[in-house]
Amino acid sequence: MFKKILIANRGEIALRIQRACREMGIQSVVVYSEADRDAKYVRLADEAVCIGPAPSAQSYLHMPAIISAAEVTDAEAIHPGYGFLSENADFAERVESSGFTFIGPTPESIRVMGDKVSAKQAMIKSGVPCVPGSEGALPEDPKEIIRTARAIGYPVIIKAAGGGGGRGMRVVHTEAALIHAVQTTRAEAGAAFGNPAVYMEKFLEHPRHIEIQVLADQHKNAVWLGERDCSMQRRHQKIIEEAPAPGIPRRLIEKVGERCAAACKKIGYRGAGTFEFLFENGEFYFIEMNTRVQVEHPVTEMTSGIDIVQMQIRVAAGEKLPFTQRQIELRGHAIEVRLNAEDPVKFIPSPGRITTWHAPGGPGVRVDSHIYTNYFVPPNYDSMIGKIIVHGDTREQALARMRTALSETVIEGINTNIPLHRELMVDAKFIEGGTDIHYLEHWMAARKR
Ligand code: ADP
Repeated sequence: MFKKILIANRGEIALRIQRACREMGIQSVVVYSEADRDAKYVRLADEAVCIGPAPSAQSYLHMPAIISAAEVTDAEAIHPGYGFLSENADFAERVESSGFTFIGPTPESIRVMGDKVSAKQAMIKSGVPCVPGSEGALPEDPKEIIRTARAIGYPVIIKAAGGGGGRGMRVVHTEAALIHAVQTTRAEAGAAFGNPAVYMEKFLEHPRHIEIQVLADQHKNAVWLGERDCSMQRRHQKIIEEAPAPGIPRRLIEKVGERCAAACKKIGYRGAGTFEFLFENGEFYFIEMNTRVQVEHPVTEMTSGIDIVQMQIRVAAGEKLPFTQRQIELRGHAIEVRLNAEDPVKFIPSPGRITTWHAPGGPGVRVDSHIYTNYFVPPNYDSMIGKIIVHGDTREQALARMRTALSETVIEGINTNIPLHRELMVDAKFIEGGTDIHYLEHWMAARKR
C-alpha cells in the first residue's frame, strides 16, 4: 500500500480523500491555491503545498506545479478527485511517466471514454445499450446527414464528440433546421473543445438520468454497486441524487448493471467509474462514462457499505477487489442534496464569508463538507460547498430524515440553495418518485408565475 498520496483537488472532495487516507494509515499531501490557503482541510493535511494563485489554470489545472509538489513531498500516488484534471488523459500519462501512480483508470481508458463517439462505439461492442443514432461522427455531406436524421426520426440531438459539462449540444425538431444546427455545433465544438467532430442521437423527450457505479481491479475483476437516480437537474447540473431509483424493476437494473461490469472487463477498465444512462419507456440508453469518482458517490456508499474512495486507492495499489458481485448487498435508501453557495431562486453565485455553520446530525445523516464558521467561500471555483446525505430503511424514512436534516442546517453570511431543497423534499411529485430530467426546470418555471 502507498505510504503517501497527493490530493490534486480542493474543497469537500479533497477532505473526503484525506479522510480515506487517514483511515487507511496513509499520509496525505494537499495542494492548494492562494485562495484556499486558510481552509481547514489544508491545515489538517500531513503536508500542504501551495501550487499557485487562485485562478484554476494557474493552480489546480497546472500540471507541472502538481507533479513538482509530488516530487518534493515524495508522494507515491496522485488522487485527482473529480473535475479539474481528473479526466485528463495527458495528466494521467504525465503522472505515470514521472514515476507516480495515477489513482484512476489508464490514460487509454480515459481517452476512449473522453471522446463520446469512441465511447459509444466501445459500448456498442460491449453490449451496453445506447441511444439510437449516427454510426460514429457525422460526415460532411449534407445529404448523408439528412438521411441519417430521417432514419433516426425527429427530434434529434447533435452532440459534440469532445463535449462535456452539458455543453456542445443542440436539439433539432425539423429537417429545415438540421444542417444549420450541425454546422453551428461543429463550429462551437471546434472552438470550445478543440475537436469539431459531432454525432447525432435520437432526442429522448422525457428521460430519467440513471447511472451505474462500477469498480474494477487490475486482475480482471469488475462489479457494479447498484444505480443512482440523478434526474433532479438544472441546466444539466445534478442537485439531488438517490439510490435505488424509485419504481424501476430490479431485473431491468440488474441486466444493465451486469452489462456495465462485463464492459469494464472487456475494455480493461480499472478503478471506479460511472456509466450514465437515460431511461425512458423501460429502456436504458448509454450516454457517457465518467472515469473518476463522482460528487454523488456517497449515495452508493450508504446503500452498499463500500468505501468507494478507499477502493480506488486499493485497486490503484494493485490489490484485488475484496468482494465478488454476489457478496455485494444493497440496503435501504439514500438521498443526497448538493449545497451550493448561490441564490435559491435566481442561482447567482454567492461567495463570501460564512458567519454561522450548524451541521445536521442524527441517525443515518452524513455531511461531506469542508466549510466551517468563518470560512470564506472563494469566488474562483464551483459553487458547491458540501453535501448532505441521508440513509433510511425505506425511501419514506430517508425523505423524513432529509427533511429533518435540512431543518437543522444553518448557513449564514452567504446565500445557499437550502430553501430550494426544503421545498423539493415536500413536493408531491418528488415524493412520489420517478420524475424526469426536465421536472425541476418546469417546477421552477411554474413557481415563478
Ligand atoms: P455532458 O458530458 O455534457 O454532461 P451528456 O452526454 O452526459 O453530456 O448529456 C448531458 C445531458 O444532456 C443529459 O443528462 C441529458 O439531459 C441531455 N441529453 C444528452 N443526450 C440526450 C438525448 N439523446 N436525448 C435527450 N437528452 C439528452
